[in-house]
Amino acid sequence: SRENFLHTERLHVMSEISASVSHEIRNPLTVTHGFLQLLKESKTLSTDEKMYIDFSLKELERAEEIVSNFLAFAKPQSENMVSSNLKEEIEYVKNILFPYAKMNHVDIEFQFNNTLKKRYDKNQMQQSLINILKNGIEAMKESGGILSIDVSEQNRTIIIIIKDNGIGMTEDEISQLGKPYYSTKKEGTGLGMLMVYGAISKAKGTIEVESEKGKGTTFTITLPV
Ligand code: ADP
Ligand code: MG
Repeated sequence: SRENFLHTERLHVMSEISASVSHEIRNPLTVTHGFLQLLKESKTLSTDEKMYIDFSLKELERAEEIVSNFLAFAKPQSENMVSSNLKEEIEYVKNILFPYAKMNHVDIEFQFNNTLKKRYDKNQMQQSLINILKNGIEAMKESGGILSIDVSEQNRTIIIIIKDNGIGMTEDEISQLGKPYYSTKKEGTGLGMLMVYGAISKAKGTIEVESEKGKGTTFTITLPV
């Protein structure tokens, strides 16, 4: 119907706008983040002043996270499409999360055994991996632990297994994953898994979650090539 058509059109415009707004906001956020980081190095700051900078940096990181999720969610663009085996994306993500893991006493173990190539959106794949790995690190915040990433192939399917030995989830908590704004964290956005489910389903993949409270969580992603 006409009404339906208008609605679809509106959604499309919305996603175009959110992509460009997110993109435009990301640059000033990154610049401000960089300058604050420099300011923090100053030798003449008082303890309070250092604390204010730390708060500001944290809030900026939160805003950057929200914007990255929107950006990745809003645009499956042809210029981002690659045909590859995920190795580069996983190496990249592992490297950028390394300091965050170290800060939380988490070791990252990494196994890569895949030659299959798939066409995927590089940005969305990176952001999905970041969101899952970050959650794994955050689940081990209190105790430290091992985050393992294993990539293999089977029957023309790429299999990514991401495992942590953190706080784990109940059945009920698992069923809430991917609901907009669902978060059990004080400073969570509750947008990470929403983005992951969206991106993996766009890539025709599946996600399986196995978790036990107090033991840990395993995410298994399959991506048919
Ligand atoms: P956020 O990380 O901002 O809270 P997410 O959408 O990334 O939002 O995750 C939603 C919620 O799912 C988290 O707050 C947490 O309760 C739960 N969760 C996700 N991954 C894990 C994990 N590896 N271990 C335990 N809980 C998890
Ligand atoms: Mg998260």
